[in-house]
Amino acid sequence: MKCIFCEIVNRNSPAEIIFEDEKIIAFLDNKPFNFGHSLVIPKIHCEDFLSVPEDHLMNLISAVQAVSKAVLKGLNVSGFNIISNNGKTAGQSVFHFHFHIIPRFKSDKHKYRLNLKSYAPGEMKRFAESIKNFVNNQE
Ligand SMILES: [Zn+2]
Repeated sequence: MKCIFCEIVNRNSPAEIIFEDEKIIAFLDNKPFNFGHSLVIPKIHCEDFLSVPEDHLMNLISAVQAVSKAVLKGLNVSGFNIISNNGKTAGQSVFHFHFHIIPRFKSDKHKYRLNLKSYAPGEMKRFAESIKNFVNNQE
């Protein structure tokens, strides 16, 4: 099955492209949360954030910042969300890594239904230790 984002990169599918450099391309999401909802992707096919080549990360984050600034100015909004879904469990539907930049309007009526949890005593330290063990020991 063809990757729909690679098809955009290769100009085989139409898209409203708003930014492009050697490694990165950004375009409007065709099913936007809000109008102006933009996607920033590496041109090289990689499934999720963890598989983005290290030499693409700086370009990617710089492009996310540049597009975010342009969304704010161009659409005259004061807030935006940067979202990335990684893995089916997290809601990823296109398996070519992408950041969403979503302009927010006071009147847009989008609300997150948060279900915040509370750590039991001592549990927070246990979770931190589980993560810390792997931060500096990457294979
Ligand atoms: Zn792809």
